[in-house]
Amino acid sequence: MKINLSQFKRFEKQIILKKIGLSGQKKIFSAKVLIIGLGGLGCPLLTYLAASGVGKIGIVDYDKVEISNLNRQTLFSPSDVGKFKVDQAKKVISKINRKIKIFSFKKRLTSKNISKIFKKFEIICDGTDNFQTRYLINDFCKKGKRILISSAISKFDGQLMKFNFKKKGPCYRCFMPIQPNILNNCQDDGIFSPVAGIMGSLQANEVLKTILNSKSDLNGNMIIFNALKSEFRKIKISINPKCLNKC
Ligand SMILES: [Zn+2]
Repeated sequence: MKINLSQFKRFEKQIILKKIGLSGQKKIFSAKVLIIGLGGLGCPLLTYLAASGVGKIGIVDYDKVEISNLNRQTLFSPSDVGKFKVDQAKKVISKINRKIKIFSFKKRLTSKNISKIFKKFEIICDGTDNFQTRYLINDFCKKGKRILISSAISKFDGQLMKFNFKKKGPCYRCFMPIQPNILNNCQDDGIFSPVAGIMGSLQANEVLKTILNSKSDLNGNMIIFNALKSEFRKIKISINPKCLNKC
């Protein structure tokens, strides 16, 4: 793969970083990333991946834009209300970067369609708002030895985890073996807008580091952010010997 002058100019500020360079930029161009959920996390995540030049991005969402989404879902505006998120996001992202390929899936992710949707992608990003889908994504990634970068937000708090299932380590079920009896979704709990931006951007950060084979890897760890205290904590996720996935 060759990088032409206009591409060089566009991505110059990251190419001049020693840890990226031309070879790193080529890796970014060749990367295939799937984003599940175009909510508060998916919007910044998609924006930064597209702006960085990630070559192939899949987006999965069945929801339409609602007026109450607009405090944090920065790809949408009031005129998008009632339209499918994947369609609007694709329009905006194509303007940011015409060169990348966006695969949109206007679908609810199920055990029936997951294998077809995941087929093309190496890195999977979970930004969904329910535990059922989180377990489905986790179990499929674990079985298929993929890389899962997962984030969740509620009120003033955010979490980010990475699981590289090519290596032995914990999974999401190790951390959360039983589905909690709460909804964990922004519509019911409320969400402080910057938490979505911060956690979605951190998710993009981990995706790009994964593409670049960065040595300082979040694998098997979790970052917890609290917006009120402006505090980050990093904790190791242990393998649960009783995990259903036999981690
Ligand atoms: Zn596990």
